[in-house]
Amino acid sequence: MLNWTISHDSAPDAPPTRHMFRCLGEDEDGKPCGAEGPVVEDFQEAQCWPFEHLREHQDHRSFAHVAEVPWLMIPEEEPS
Ligand SMILES: [Zn+2]
Repeated sequence: MLNWTISHDSAPDAPPTRHMFRCLGEDEDGKPCGAEGPVVEDFQEAQCWPFEHLREHQDHRSFAHVAEVPWLMIPEEEPS
């Protein structure tokens, strides 16, 4: 049996961390809005979308920040 650990992948060639915002507001009929902004690598850029969304839905003020962060499974020793 191999022992594995899970670890944040901070290698230079790791996939990029990506960010997205999802609206947690509700439409007038009480249904969750669920609208999502673009998935982008630049966190500042990701934060632009809630402002755009608010312009069209002034009562949608709650958002979830969804982050895609690369992690790696690492075996205690390489399988031979
Ligand atoms: Zn919304």
